[in-house]
Amino acid sequence: MSNRVLFLDLDGVILPGRALHTAHNAPLVEAFRQGTPLAEVGEQLQFAPDCLEHLRRIVERSNCKLVVISTWRKTFFGGDKRRCIIDVLVDKGLSRDWFHEHPVAPYKMTSAKVHEILFWLDGQSEDVDWLLLDDDVGVLNGLSEPARHVQTDFEQGLSDREVEQIVTYWRC
Ligand SMILES: [Mg+2]
Repeated sequence: MSNRVLFLDLDGVILPGRALHTAHNAPLVEAFRQGTPLAEVGEQLQFAPDCLEHLRRIVERSNCKLVVISTWRKTFFGGDKRRCIIDVLVDKGLSRDWFHEHPVAPYKMTSAKVHEILFWLDGQSEDVDWLLLDDDVGVLNGLSEPARHVQTDFEQGLSDREVEQIVTYWRC
């Protein structure tokens, strides 16, 4: 079984900047900017189909499992009438079996993503060969493994370039 894990960000990865302007998404984004909470608009936003296809290629080629690192998981936390982020993502076209059995990275108060990755890794009993897919710069600052960060362009989102980077890194 593969021990590859891909920490998945959403905004700027499968919800790129260019997807915020589609006829479907633009009114939702405007409502969000006017103060409507993510909890109300998030489930209706549509991800970029080409980015989802790239993600499918990565998962099928590498046999990796996904762990959600996006801050969306703090909105869709699966309690208090909020759905779990995994259920939301499955409705948006991701496959449930793409996700790790521990599919959501833990967080504490205002912890940084780099620490949330470490929290998750700490909870695993086996060694994990992980990568981070995220548009933000410097997420792994302070960690001696910058090569594990595969960075997308926010406007473009997940593209062929990052797919190639990941399959090259994992030699798959
Ligand atoms: Mg992002």
